Amino acid sequence: MRKPIMVGNWKMNTTSAEATALVTALKTELNEVTDVEIGVCPPFVYIQPVKQILQGSNIKTGAQNVYWESKGAFTGQVSPGMLKDIGCDYVLVGHSECRHVMGETDEVINKKIKVLLAAGLTPIFCVGEKLEQRQDNTTENVIRAQVEQGLNGVPKEKIKEIIVAYEPVWAIGTGKTATPEQAQEVHSFIRKLISLISNEETAQGMRIMYGGSVKPDNIKGLMAKDDIDGALVGGASLKADSFVKLVKYQ
Ligand code: PEP
Repeated sequence: MRKPIMVGNWKMNTTSAEATALVTALKTELNEVTDVEIGVCPPFVYIQPVKQILQGSNIKTGAQNVYWESKGAFTGQVSPGMLKDIGCDYVLVGHSECRHVMGETDEVINKKIKVLLAAGLTPIFCVGEKLEQRQDNTTENVIRAQVEQGLNGVPKEKIKEIIVAYEPVWAIGTGKTATPEQAQEVHSFIRKLISLISNEETAQGMRIMYGGSVKPDNIKGLMAKDDIDGALVGGASLKADSFVKLVKYQ
């Protein structure tokens, strides 16, 4: 059985006061939840204060990005060791905004996944097709290329430490969520790919989250599908009320 997982991606949002208030409310409201793994990914500058508030709670923390070198003259970048040092659990890699706004390539994503695994951090490896790719029926080719290139050279026994997030670009922040059937189709495809790259046991144990306009009113349908193990949530993770409802979807 794969444990469901809900992670909030706050993106470049919140002030220090808002971050503190949001996570304080989540800590209180989600205190009793043990059957769902919960995480929040604040902007870098708020990770430590958020972690401090979360002490003693079941909510994990993640970063939204990382650089692949361990230290040195890389102005503005943050290393895996630094994130480990402050107690991060997860790091988002290959988010569609990094791929398509910041120009992150599959090669860079692959380097980041490798250094995160080496540092003992859990990569949340995001993949997803653009609208025109879905319309051209090339979704599977796009996802295959992203998964294969992202995991290129990752030792087979390490692949089980990764969480995958399927996030169709056309659904992120648009209010247009994939239907549970559309998402399930791609999730099942990703699981098959993982079994080919690694093995069936790893594929069956791997959690594959869905992301893209997940809201309290569509989570149940998504989570009812066999291969959907959780959600990576942007907009709806910025309000305690909606994120709490998502975590308590059952
Ligand atoms: C995301 O940031 O990964 C995301 C899925 O955003 P939203 O839920 O706002 O579509």
